[in-house]
Amino acid sequence: MLGVRARTYMDRGEYVPDEIVVEMVMERLSEPDAEKGFILDGFPRTVRQAEELEQALAEAGRPLSAVLKFSISDEMAVRRLSNRWTCPACKRTYNMEFKPPAQDAICDFDGHELERRSDDDELTVRRRLEVYREQTAPLAAFYRTRDLLREIDAQAREDAVTARTIDALADLEEGDGA
Ligand SMILES: [Zn+2]
Repeated sequence: MLGVRARTYMDRGEYVPDEIVVEMVMERLSEPDAEKGFILDGFPRTVRQAEELEQALAEAGRPLSAVLKFSISDEMAVRRLSNRWTCPACKRTYNMEFKPPAQDAICDFDGHELERRSDDDELTVRRRLEVYREQTAPLAAFYRTRDLLREIDAQAREDAVTARTIDALADLEEGDGA
């Protein structure tokens, strides 16, 4: 039902109200596979959403254990995203500059032709960075005051960032939502 309500906003080209988005997230978190914990990726994106989410999670007795912030320069974000190609079959991602496939534009694993997301061109990436700065960057302060923020320097190679991420979460107990 919530999905349908969200759909009607999107069909009209309007933003789905934060309350409905948070309700949808909470509904998803009540499913069995989220029982032991969960990771939210790309949500919340605004302080308003973070406030709504905080309240809903408090009511459910499932507060966040940690918030990760991956920091990279604008230039690196542009280089990574505008060179990103994805396999439509297995969803593996490649980067033509940093992690190219063995054969030009072909997936190493299943031979499918790689695709590029339409919003990954440089101009769109720069616009997304502006929106990020305006709407999402203030979340860092929001979560820092709650002592949840863990910043990760993500400028490095993928495997180094993975190691840093695991380190940053090492002190969390199993079963905590993050
Ligand atoms: Zn593939």
